[in-house]
Amino acid sequence: MIDICIIGGGAAGLMLANSLPPSLSVAVLTKEDPFSSNTALAQGGIAASIGPGDHPASHAADTLSAAANHADAERVELLVWEGQALIEAMLSQGLPFDADATGQPSLGQEAAHATRRILHAGGDQTGKKLLQHLLAKTENRVKRLPYSSVLELIMHDGQCTGVSVEDAFGKRSFIQAQHTILATGGIGQLYSQTSNSIAATGDGLSLAFHAGAVLEDLEFVQFHPTVFTINGNSCGLISEAVRGEGALLIDSEGKRIMADVHPLRELAPRDIVARAIEWHWQQKGPVFLDARHLQDFKAKFPSIYRNCLHHHINPEKQPIPVRPGAHFHMGGVQTNEWGETTIPHLYAIGEIASTGVHGANRLASNSLLESLVFAKRLAEKIQTCGFSQKELFFPLIEPTKEFLLPADLQMRMTEQVGILRDGVELKKFTSDFPLLRFDLQHYSGQQIKEIHRYTASSLIAQAALFRTESRGAHYRIDAPPVSEDWTGKTVQLSVNGVTIGTRKLQHKETVS
Ligand SMILES: Cc1cc2nc3c(=O)[nH]c(=O)nc-3n(C[C@H](O)[C@H](O)[C@H](O)COP(=O)(O)OP(=O)(O)OC[C@H]3O[C@@H](n4cnc5c(N)ncnc54)[C@H](O)[C@@H]3O)c2cc1C
Repeated sequence: MIDICIIGGGAAGLMLANSLPPSLSVAVLTKEDPFSSNTALAQGGIAASIGPGDHPASHAADTLSAAANHADAERVELLVWEGQALIEAMLSQGLPFDADATGQPSLGQEAAHATRRILHAGGDQTGKKLLQHLLAKTENRVKRLPYSSVLELIMHDGQCTGVSVEDAFGKRSFIQAQHTILATGGIGQLYSQTSNSIAATGDGLSLAFHAGAVLEDLEFVQFHPTVFTINGNSCGLISEAVRGEGALLIDSEGKRIMADVHPLRELAPRDIVARAIEWHWQQKGPVFLDARHLQDFKAKFPSIYRNCLHHHINPEKQPIPVRPGAHFHMGGVQTNEWGETTIPHLYAIGEIASTGVHGANRLASNSLLESLVFAKRLAEKIQTCGFSQKELFFPLIEPTKEFLLPADLQMRMTEQVGILRDGVELKKFTSDFPLLRFDLQHYSGQQIKEIHRYTASSLIAQAALFRTESRGAHYRIDAPPVSEDWTGKTVQLSVNGVTIGTRKLQHKETVS
């Protein structure tokens, strides 16, 4: 038995591992290699109010405003105040952020932030640099288990007692742990159009659902406006920071598509920009991001530049073809302010957790901050929790049941549970792919992985059908923009005995 089993080695999992005392035995499991995560792909940076004239209150106001009246204001306070202190501490501990000529962190601007407050590293390689930094710090302190897919959470007497795992050779085993942490990241790969890493298949949602944990806010999926798209294929992300520097969204005739849509144009809230681009694609044709007039594109965005050249587009000479793609999941496994879920000894941090800080729409660059802040909080909490579970014996069961993943699931998610949703289409999806609870131990490892994809997709669709209004990133063509009926309410949707409903709002403001 080990003390701590962390499922996921992105910013959240590694920050937790790094913040625990060396006296604890810790394992970090990753599905693929250590760099297969959304963290490794993060480009823009980390938001923190450390610049001159900036203040956590301003960061909180921007976060709440983006969240479309659905964030938990107290958790947002934790995020921005503790985030500011944490980033300052990490800077003094050598986290390699880019600096300006005076040696101060160079701060970027992103949409819906009142001021420049985005710290970045290696230009647009913030996530990779952060990951390298955290990997180096945890080098000799934790047991890393790459290519180890968690198939199931092991429950005993209503508590989580560890995980069942399959290694790269298909061998299954159990890891018993005093405390188990879901740090499994996002869900983008459930959609055919996405910015996410191959590991982002929503496993954490399905693992938690099958264990009986409460989930919430699952309908809130953020679609990034500018996924680099060639012949219908997602080829990586063009960070919002590129628009922050002045790049323009144009149609094939060079006309600006945001001109009549929002006063902030390219820097309007992410969901508005994404819907405008998608609408344009569906009604009129392709959309491009024109960065030809920007100074020093290559130096400011080296990995985007390299990726564009790799796909035969030179962003200094040609507009970049872009289309929205699934990018970030605001909802997830419900946690309190310490990362505890509704199941004893099971915790959730990072993108898989629903901490309430993002509400219905995430403010750009707040997710790495959330991963770091709540991982640090959980490390403090775990040290006050009991370490009392006994060794148990779990028999391995031969798989006898069959599951076939529907071939069109990913495409149907994009078309029916995507950026522009409609009640009739959502009903079709949920009746074709009903939410089921599987007896996981009776299936093969490969089939369980497919069951996780299926379950996570079905969970999101159920929640999207349930919310008969449009709010933040959840846009229903058939439902009014924002409904007062849904504001300030605790609404619970239970399916097969598991709550997948929505968080009680802590504050009620006038909806605009
Ligand atoms: C292209 C892109 C750009 C982004 N840019 C920014 C940005 O600039 N600023 C910002 O704040 N946010 C950004 N984000 C969002 C941010 O990167 C993520 O929300 C954040 O990194 C999530 O961290 P995490 O640790 O929760 O998950 P991840 O970093 O995705 O890590 C998840 C881990 O879980 C593991 N895992 C999953 N399932 C299993 C399983 N069944 N068994 C074992 N292991 C499993 C994976 O292998 C992986 O190691 C971006 C996201 C993308 C995709």
